[in-house]
Amino acid sequence: MENCLFCKIIDKSIPSDIVYENDNLLAFNDINPEAPVHVLIIPKIHIPTLNDLKKEHVGLLGELVFTAGILAKKLGIDKDGYRTNFNCNDAGGQTVYHIHLHLLGGRHFSWPPG
Ligand code: AMP
Ligand code: ZN
Repeated sequence: MENCLFCKIIDKSIPSDIVYENDNLLAFNDINPEAPVHVLIIPKIHIPTLNDLKKEHVGLLGELVFTAGILAKKLGIDKDGYRTNFNCNDAGGQTVYHIHLHLLGGRHFSWPPG
């Protein structure tokens, strides 16, 4: 998708600090981390928001969530705990319109979020 920052990260025309990659998804460190661990996990296909999900994407989304759990173990935040987050549209705090799962850890998070 032209002019999508995360599609450019996927095709490597913009560099990123990659944590994990497979045929379906890419995980990389957030450029402006909100926690000691802040990884973004994104599908390799361009889906702008959660509102654009189709039934055919259910398996892919499951893989994103599954990967968050695997990476949490790999990064050593699984025992203490961590936060996973999808933001949707403006009120939800979304700034990049290619869905991404935030994986945050290494500090304590309150609930509800601010
Ligand atoms: P959101 O606000 O949920 O859309 O999250 C977008 C995230 O992308 C923010 O946490 C940004 O810090 C992060 N971000 C923006 N540009 C880059 C980049 N070039 N590399 C890595 N992370 C980025
Ligand atoms: Zn995209």
